[in-house]
Amino acid sequence: MKRLFSVSAFLVFLCFWGGECKYMVYDTSQRILADKINVHLVPHSHDDVGWLKTVDQYYTGANNSIRGACVQNVLDSVISALLDDKNRKFIYVEIAFFQRWWNQQSGLLKTKVKELVNSGQLEFINGGMCMHDEATPHYIDLIDQTTLGHMFIHREFGQKPRVGWQIDPFGHSSVQAYLLGAEVGFDSLFFARMDYQDRAKRKCDKTLEVVWQGSRSLGSSSQLFTGIFPRHYDPPDGFTFEINDVSPPIQVNASKTSCVISYFWCFCLVTNSTLKDDVLLFDYNVQERVNDFVAAAMAQANVTRTNHIMWAMGTDFRYQYALSWFRQMDKFIHYVNLDGRVNALYSTPSIYTDAKYAANETWPLKTGDFFPYADKENTYWTGYFTSRPAFKGYVRTMSGYYVAARQLEFYKGRSSSGPNTDALANALAIAQHHDAVSGTQRQHVAADYAMRISIGYAEAEEVVASTLAYLTTSRSSANYEKSVGMFQQCPLLNISYCPPSEVVLANGKSLVVVVYNSLGWKREEVVRVPVSSHELIVLDSSGREIESQLLPIFNSSLNMRDYHVKAYLGKSPSTTPQYWLGFTATTPPLGFSTYIISSAKHTDRSSIMSTMWTSDSTSDKTVVVGGGDLKLLYATDEGKLTSYINNRNMVEESMEHSYSYYSGYNGTDQASGAYIFRPNGTFLIKSEGEKAFTILRGPLMDEVHQQLNSWIYQVTRVYKEKEHAEVEFIIGPIPVDDGVGKEITTQITTAFKTNKTFYTDSNGRDFIKRVRDFRTDWDLQVNQPVAGNYYPINLGAYVGDGRMELSVLVDRAVGGSSLVDGQIELMLHRRLLCDDLKGVGEVLNETICVLNDCKGLVVQGKFYFRIDPVGTGAKWRRTFGQEIYSPLLLAFSEQDENEWKNSHVSSFSMIDASYSLPNNIAVITLQELESGKVLVRLAHLYEVGEDKDYSVMATVELKKLFPNRKISKVTEMNLSGNQERGEMERKRLAWKVKDLSEVKIVRGGAVDSEKQVVELGPMEIRTFIIDLDYLGMFGSVPSDE
Ligand SMILES: [Zn+2]
Repeated sequence: MKRLFSVSAFLVFLCFWGGECKYMVYDTSQRILADKINVHLVPHSHDDVGWLKTVDQYYTGANNSIRGACVQNVLDSVISALLDDKNRKFIYVEIAFFQRWWNQQSGLLKTKVKELVNSGQLEFINGGMCMHDEATPHYIDLIDQTTLGHMFIHREFGQKPRVGWQIDPFGHSSVQAYLLGAEVGFDSLFFARMDYQDRAKRKCDKTLEVVWQGSRSLGSSSQLFTGIFPRHYDPPDGFTFEINDVSPPIQVNASKTSCVISYFWCFCLVTNSTLKDDVLLFDYNVQERVNDFVAAAMAQANVTRTNHIMWAMGTDFRYQYALSWFRQMDKFIHYVNLDGRVNALYSTPSIYTDAKYAANETWPLKTGDFFPYADKENTYWTGYFTSRPAFKGYVRTMSGYYVAARQLEFYKGRSSSGPNTDALANALAIAQHHDAVSGTQRQHVAADYAMRISIGYAEAEEVVASTLAYLTTSRSSANYEKSVGMFQQCPLLNISYCPPSEVVLANGKSLVVVVYNSLGWKREEVVRVPVSSHELIVLDSSGREIESQLLPIFNSSLNMRDYHVKAYLGKSPSTTPQYWLGFTATTPPLGFSTYIISSAKHTDRSSIMSTMWTSDSTSDKTVVVGGGDLKLLYATDEGKLTSYINNRNMVEESMEHSYSYYSGYNGTDQASGAYIFRPNGTFLIKSEGEKAFTILRGPLMDEVHQQLNSWIYQVTRVYKEKEHAEVEFIIGPIPVDDGVGKEITTQITTAFKTNKTFYTDSNGRDFIKRVRDFRTDWDLQVNQPVAGNYYPINLGAYVGDGRMELSVLVDRAVGGSSLVDGQIELMLHRRLLCDDLKGVGEVLNETICVLNDCKGLVVQGKFYFRIDPVGTGAKWRRTFGQEIYSPLLLAFSEQDENEWKNSHVSSFSMIDASYSLPNNIAVITLQELESGKVLVRLAHLYEVGEDKDYSVMATVELKKLFPNRKISKVTEMNLSGNQERGEMERKRLAWKVKDLSEVKIVRGGAVDSEKQVVELGPMEIRTFIIDLDYLGMFGSVPSDE
């Protein structure tokens, strides 16, 4: 104590004497103290890749009247502040922004930034193009967008992000934890948003930090240390320092400083210098602010294990003037450390993770996921699972197209100067942002995302067309040059608009349809195209006539078609097709077949016209639909579905199919909106009866057409050769003239006693068990019995009663639940009239306009259902589920007479003609990288225990995937392809976990360099970079059977 006084006296002298000094060096050196609470200050800016403004507007600072946000300013000023002081740190997350900024910098600055990255001052966290949503993207999209960002970081900086930073998404998926976390090589994951009841309990139990085991199949090998912030991703109150923020900065004044010196000597040490700049200040507050800091730190330490806590120092679009933050943090670190009650340091989530790991604590285990998210009792963030269903459908359609287009790009060889698939890749990447595919952005931003995707699609379409031209023209360059541009595609085929198939064939001309299958197994599926003539024949690849069916296109469809073609393309269609022509396409794995459609001559057996049944046609009470094993029974008087029968596996169950709507709560105390689902009553939508009930029957399929009311139309399709039903719905414009927003749902109902239990997928991958009104991790207080039981669905949902399983699969992200035993409900569309006050500041009232005439948006989509004896449903959910994701790709051309078959390759597979992948494996990536190497990802589609035949180790013979090429090297990578898998495994931290009951994990072994066979265990995804030597044109021409 004595010595202390003497130091104080010396400092007092300094204080009064020091008024002439100009510069103060704050001690911000980083140190961790074992005996103190260590407060890790993590400077960050949360830069949404589009939300209230478009990605361009956020980057440049345009449209600042909406929100003063300019990411360019953030990066410029952060870099400058980091260069000023080597102790300062910053993390950057959104590579879509960083990459753009980087490309605009000088060589000199790039060198300096590289030094900042190498020294750890600037660290890339998460590192995808965006901070993706976790409820509504498909796992393939999550992988692709992360890979794109990680490869940029690796290429430019040689770095591999170590930490997942999903601070803002509205709920968290298990696929994020294990696939986009552990499999990427992350050591930890941090986020902010979780259910308020869950958070309260975890704060009490000190379980905000856990080891999360996201996969049942991959067990402990899928673990990831996960930290949840005690409140949000901003600093504790009073510690935000953007220019206009109201937190008090640290201020010092001479006379007051001297007063405190006698009992708080350390402040003087600081202020003796600070006051040199601040002689005019009167609002001395150092001690007060240090006390605030210590109090906030202790409060957090009380809910946190170990002596390390993290403060996320920043929030949305902060650090536009970075010094304003760093100046205060410099002072806080300096003063607080002199105070000595806690220890403050500039840190990053990586440093924090290492400190947590070094503490050698045993952590609680978390399984399952963090859905749904509620931040208050009536505020369930479950509406966005469905918001903007047309955009969600577009993203999913383009995602599947991108997988196929990349394969075709690889066949022919990538062109870096274009056309290539890069623009589509970039557009899809930012569309996975948590305010993009989630549907929670403003309308002009949604339009911007869609526009980017459509521009990317247009370029990818050229890649597909030219590759197909290349592959069909006997690969001789002369023919190929001639045929470039000969293939057209029909992105509006879903609304029966396809100019090449609609033309009336001129004399001697035929329509050529190339059908490409991007999956590794052979497929037989009915494809359909709109045509204008009814005397047609269809020939297969070998020239044999095959069965085909004509279905009339009703006026309601044509009206919708004409309206939307005008809305999307700005012009009316020049033709009016009369029929859909359906035929069964048989396609080889990863390859195509060709079908020729031509006018029938008198001698031909032309396509078969569907017969039409209306309820006037019979006096029977029941009508049966379906020409194969599957039969659906309908009551003729009301057109109601009553029974589901499968003659093959002896399933016979009662079944109903209905539509309802929830009226959106519109009070000021929490309305239903873009994010929030808050129903205010549910109403059954009654069918308008028999007049609107028509059945078409034919050799390939039966269709039940029902106009349920003036704004819901549905077609239920039963294919002769398939055992599921397909429902195509057209919903909208949702009427809101009564001033009430509406959220439209459909229900498939059986009598199964399912005991409140149902299963929904995680990003299209693992199924997670859900129990109505129940959470595994805490005693749920039920406030919203509907919204609180909604979950995101990307692949499907199922329920079972121990005897039978009802499965429903979807074509895009939707919200859904099982609110009644035996029933699955999906929310298909929503139109709301109030903002839910979660920041977007706009109502979710989508419209479509022709010129200035706008009406509520119409959504068209599909879902599929099927019943199986228990334990056999996974085969359909998984294998057919992948087929939904990767629909057959159609391209159209024309031929004269029989010229095509004589001069073109009509059937092709890129893999060995004798080979196909097993039905439990998908090639989810096949892509030529800029280096010329090939990125290949193989995914096992089944979970452990899901299916007796397919939930087993599966193998892929790489040599047969690349016939006529020599594989010179196979390197197994982590999921995002930025490091070798072995390196990732070696670095993996092994956390100690409480209550771990280990199951046996099945994973494939190392790939033998001679045999080149890849093994995959259930739910395993393996990523490889392959060096190929060219041996000649690869691929094979399958023999026609
Ligand atoms: Zn955000």
